[in-house]
Amino acid sequence: AKNSGRNRYAWFDLSMERELQARNELESGLRAAIPRLEIVPYFEQQIDLTTGRLGGFEVLARWEHPTRGLIVPDKFIPIAEETGMIADLSLSIMRQAFVAAKDWDPGLSLSVNISPWQLKDAWLAQKIIKVLTETGFPASRLEIEITESSLFDNLALAQSIVGSLKNQGIRLALDDFGTGYSSLAHLRALPFDRIKIDKSFVMSINDNSESAAIVNAITRLGDSLNLPITAEGIEDASIEERLRALGCSKGQGYLYGRPLSVANVRRLLAEKGCC
Ligand code: C2E
Ligand code: CA
Ligand code: CA
Ligand code: CA
Repeated sequence: AKNSGRNRYAWFDLSMERELQARNELESGLRAAIPRLEIVPYFEQQIDLTTGRLGGFEVLARWEHPTRGLIVPDKFIPIAEETGMIADLSLSIMRQAFVAAKDWDPGLSLSVNISPWQLKDAWLAQKIIKVLTETGFPASRLEIEITESSLFDNLALAQSIVGSLKNQGIRLALDDFGTGYSSLAHLRALPFDRIKIDKSFVMSINDNSESAAIVNAITRLGDSLNLPITAEGIEDASIEERLRALGCSKGQGYLYGRPLSVANVRRLLAEKGCC
């Protein structure tokens, strides 16, 4: 029994070491992947729920790894945040997305995610505006999604960055609303133009009465604050119908398809007969 205890301990050490090694590999891989443009934008359709028409896309990062295939952001965004690489990664994603979307129908908007860490960079607004200018993508077609605002330890700086972005005509959305990190207080802290209801509530609206009550309350809050609402995580037509009835102006989710590569967005737009 003593022996097996020791073995287990040794095994545990080994597995931790492997995990650490895997993480280090991912980190050095990521550092090289950004300048090689292996971190690319994918595009998730955002639908205008009143007309049923395509209104734009949310930009989602993907790592096109040369040997491992497509890697999802949950695997590398946290590492990028911890190491400070998120700043370069984010601007690279924006640059690629703007270059691609500039030629699409001018009615189509882009929503990009920024990490709360980036709101500690006093030059963030200038950097984003520079990418807009260099690519020729209009600021009026850009929306920025912010989440996990618990990290606004420097609220004054975040407010000044957001002020500079809004002065250019860029819109601001509060992401993942209703979850721990995104709450009522944040609505007062920054001048948001839109609320995004977290997908965990939307996906379960038909099966869970608490979710239904929460979605209901958020849409009424949006009404009284005059903030339009996007629902994410719409997986079937019955969910879409309920959200439309509640007055959500935009929806996105697997009902409309999985996030698309640039090439597949082009195909989609060609099929629809725009661009
Ligand atoms: P998010 O901003 O909440 O993005 C929505 C996520 O929900 C995406 O996952 C999307 O693929 C997924 N999703 C959309 N519709 C449905 C649906 O109907 N059902 C289900 N089950 N899921 C759906 P993804 O692409 O894996 O992104 C995960 C998170 O990574 C994002 O959550 C966002 O917080 C972060 N992220 C992605 N790209 C970037 C980026 O460029 N910068 C930063 N800072 N964060 C990013
Ligand atoms: Ca988002
Ligand atoms: Ca979200
Ligand atoms: Ca999220």
